[in-house]
Amino acid sequence: MAMKIVEECINCGACEPECPNQAITAGDDIYLIDPEKCTECVGFNDDYACQAVCPVEACQRDPENEETEEQLVAKALKLHPDDAELKGKFDSGNFPSVFRK
Ligand code: SF4
Ligand code: SF4
Repeated sequence: MAMKIVEECINCGACEPECPNQAITAGDDIYLIDPEKCTECVGFNDDYACQAVCPVEACQRDPENEETEEQLVAKALKLHPDDAELKGKFDSGNFPSVFRK
């Protein structure tokens, strides 16, 4: 499930550098999350890094974009094909995930 940024966004930019997948960019009105790149931080954090820093709770779960942890692991591997450390974490089954908090 990808996260989305809602209209309460005040364009502070705090979330953008926190995303491990460069999924967040400045849009015309508010910041945007590319659902093709959001992996819910699986493999990198055990929480939503964007949501954790947002001062106005504008980074929210998007129920219309539900994905399983397995799907998000596959997405992360596709986004980071050369990241041996990430692959090793997934192979070992020992990786941070919001699904395992
Ligand atoms: Fe990026 Fe994680 Fe936020 Fe998704 S949940 S947009 S991967 S920081
Ligand atoms: Fe918008 Fe929140 Fe990101 Fe700031 S941290 S740009 S308010 S979504």
